Amino acid sequence: MNFPTNPVAIGDTREVLDVGLRWLYETEQRPGAMDHHHGTRSPVVAGMRIFTFTPVGYAGLPVIVYDVARPVFDDSNGMLINPLGGHDERVWLISVINDLGRKTAISWNGDGITGSIGLGEPAHPTLRAAISLYAQGCPTRKCPMRRSTLCSKHQWFTPGNAQMRYPKWPDLLDPGPRPELVDAYVAGWKVAG
Ligand SMILES: [Zn+2]
Repeated sequence: MNFPTNPVAIGDTREVLDVGLRWLYETEQRPGAMDHHHGTRSPVVAGMRIFTFTPVGYAGLPVIVYDVARPVFDDSNGMLINPLGGHDERVWLISVINDLGRKTAISWNGDGITGSIGLGEPAHPTLRAAISLYAQGCPTRKCPMRRSTLCSKHQWFTPGNAQMRYPKWPDLLDPGPRPELVDAYVAGWKVAG
């Protein structure tokens, strides 16, 4: 998992989705590059969402996971106060993804703390190769955990991972929670829904 350097800065949803989709579909990875199948996370976007771009997920296709960036719970009953927007938000995000030229196949959850949108076409072949290389685990011949991703004795992941090309996220707006950006985000999917 690759984290942005400033996880509390707020970026534009459409731009972040565009950059993430370009990473999944258009970015050529170097030979020998290696990455976890979990993929990469965006900065927090307007509406206090955070996106994870997973190259190989449901049915071997990429999945975009969207989460409440800062879940808030009611102290009295433990209930989530700021859940995702359910159907309307899901439909809006799918419409933005489609508008950016990418097919979607399936979606699930999205009513609580996390939602997922399964995309309709496989990720770039070099990105899938980087995930496959990780899945092959430690290549050291005499390692007792050879071919396991659990080997921590040998330097098999770090050099390959250093070869990865990750998204360059858009310039971020002012850091910190900004209520007006949450409102603008919610207004976006309420109009679309
Ligand atoms: Zn090893």
